[in-house]
Amino acid sequence: METPGSQTSLHRANLERVVRAVRMAGSLTQAEIARTTGLSAATVSNIVRELKDSGTVEVTPTSAGGRRARSVSLSGSAGIVIGVDFGHTHLRVAVGNLAHQVLAEESEPLDVDASSAQGFGRAEELVTRLIAATGIGHDKVIGVGLGVPGPIDVVSGTLGSTSILPGWTGINPSEELSGRLGVPVYVDNDANLGALGELVWGSGRGVKDLAYIKVASGVGAGLVIDGQIYRGPGGTAGEIGHITLDESGPVCRCGNRGCLETFTAARYVLPLLQSSHGADLTMERVVQLAREGDPGCRRVVADVGRHIGSGVANLCNLLNPSRVVLGGDLAEAGELVLGPIRDSVSRYAIPSAARQLSVLPGALGGRAEVLGALALVLSEMGDSTLLESALPAGTPAFT
Ligand SMILES: [Zn+2]
Repeated sequence: METPGSQTSLHRANLERVVRAVRMAGSLTQAEIARTTGLSAATVSNIVRELKDSGTVEVTPTSAGGRRARSVSLSGSAGIVIGVDFGHTHLRVAVGNLAHQVLAEESEPLDVDASSAQGFGRAEELVTRLIAATGIGHDKVIGVGLGVPGPIDVVSGTLGSTSILPGWTGINPSEELSGRLGVPVYVDNDANLGALGELVWGSGRGVKDLAYIKVASGVGAGLVIDGQIYRGPGGTAGEIGHITLDESGPVCRCGNRGCLETFTAARYVLPLLQSSHGADLTMERVVQLAREGDPGCRRVVADVGRHIGSGVANLCNLLNPSRVVLGGDLAEAGELVLGPIRDSVSRYAIPSAARQLSVLPGALGGRAEVLGALALVLSEMGDSTLLESALPAGTPAFT
């Protein structure tokens, strides 16, 4: 029986702090662990030795700033995590270990008109096949992170009616997939997972406050505040697409007029070019043509950037993030879109908020969401399974 404040519970709390820091960072030197957790170097050294003896962490020699150091990561054999991303036109699955290594990854086209049962059946098959390919037993699966392209109702856990996959409204994706795979499933929308993916593996590494902006069929933002995804009590935080830019602008699907989305999302932007560039134009193609110098496409991409920048400026004034990461197809336009975003930010955000902001393209492209799904499991899984081996019942107090 542990009483709060006893040596044993204090020790357990310290173990948890170290394991959590390493779990989210992938690998850290002992000095970095001390900085992140606020524990003394001597305590970190003792705890790392103990976790290494129990097989929870692996310690490898490395160099930090030219000095020899020891890099600590969770043991690759401690368990595996699975990411599943249902996109507008694809299904992507990744298998990773707790040391942040991606062991297997595959994507296949998904028919948007497919029924949810068909979609989950395909996901189950692909997950089972990729786990088998790693040679690691199914019993090592800690959990699955699942990305869906739409808002999840926080109370019921079901997909809202504005989701992009028709016929999925009212489905509980977490129950559906955990019933098939027999492991816990954590679910989130694509913007939040993109933010987590870039935070852990991509352009957001090393920062604690970022906004990930994704422009696709809609416009969404995933917000990371102090290292954590901010969802809000109803799960709708980050609906940047519905910031009003023009009160007399086009009517938006949300019922308001002149939302950011009506100036930036594909279905509003593509018609501007279709009479000159053909009816089968896609955003991907617009970006490609802009890069090749097509003046009309360049103009449209720059205007989209300017409007996104207005939204980002609002976000800066409210949340003061240190980094904004642009994901989705649009990020491929590079400076053609990032330059206008920065211009709008410097025009509309208060200078002190704009000064510390960097606006970067996503580093992960179409993989951001599935890697974010892996990161979601790493973030939600808790440490009890990992600490069982490190801290058996009756472990004597440790100082
Ligand atoms: Zn709207």
